[in-house]
Amino acid sequence: MPLLHYGHINILTFDIEDWYHINYPQLDFRIYDRKEDHSLLLSAVKKILLFLEERRVQATFFILGRIAEKRPEIVSCIEEKGHEIAIHGYEHYLLKDIGKERFKQEIGKCIEIFEKINGKIPKGFRAPSWSATPWLFDVLREMGIEYDASVFPVKTPLYGIPDAPRYPFFIEACSDPESSSRESNNLLEIPTSTYKMLGKNIAFSGGVFFKIFPWRVIERAIHKIKMEGLPLIFFFHPWDLWNRPGKLPGFRTRFMFDLKIGNVEERFHKVIDSLPMRSIASVLKDLKNGTQVVSGFKFQVPG
Ligand SMILES: [Zn+2]
Repeated sequence: MPLLHYGHINILTFDIEDWYHINYPQLDFRIYDRKEDHSLLLSAVKKILLFLEERRVQATFFILGRIAEKRPEIVSCIEEKGHEIAIHGYEHYLLKDIGKERFKQEIGKCIEIFEKINGKIPKGFRAPSWSATPWLFDVLREMGIEYDASVFPVKTPLYGIPDAPRYPFFIEACSDPESSSRESNNLLEIPTSTYKMLGKNIAFSGGVFFKIFPWRVIERAIHKIKMEGLPLIFFFHPWDLWNRPGKLPGFRTRFMFDLKIGNVEERFHKVIDSLPMRSIASVLKDLKNGTQVVSGFKFQVPG
């Protein structure tokens, strides 16, 4: 473990997508998109914002471009409360399914949508379902994005890059292998938190993992990560905290995505109340200081 100085950093993030934005199996989002006006999502976001305001906590919200386009007030009400707006893709398709060229166009479109709503260009990106590809980082650099949060150093049947570093790092530019200066590799990667158990990386800080683990497991994971001096990065979706307003197709899908053990909302409150949480933008400088370029990092993208 080369870096041990991020222990004071606790990051809170949300992925703002609707109840049907799941990729396993890949749903045809356009069928749902035609009928959905995202009113319930807006109410859920407002509930989150009120909770954060009461606790004076600021977070990063990775938002789908399509949702921002249809309901710009979702972006503006988040922005008005001083939180960071970042990009979660346009429609939530996996990056390998849309390919490099379409992804590039969609990132351009997202930047335009967000800039039109709040006059700011987002600094960060997180891929739908952590679907990072080897070409992702070059495209983000080219589009002026400062950091990526698409790497999940964990092995699951659905996603994850288990051999990726568990600490923030700069990824060497694929298109310019000769260059190794920080200035030319200034896209920062901020991997989602995992903790080590019996040599394996275990996820706990959001999504299905947070929904099934009891508080004592989460508390222990937080402690272990703090002892290593790593930053804590939590990720939540509105429908992790409350029930989905629509019914996902298929029993297996519903089981996988709607399974909850215990009171998830209560655990969420405990996390926020026990740690001083920040947005990524507010700690970006700290994260960049001292972070190193990781050379020769190879992506094993699950098929
Ligand atoms: Zn997502």
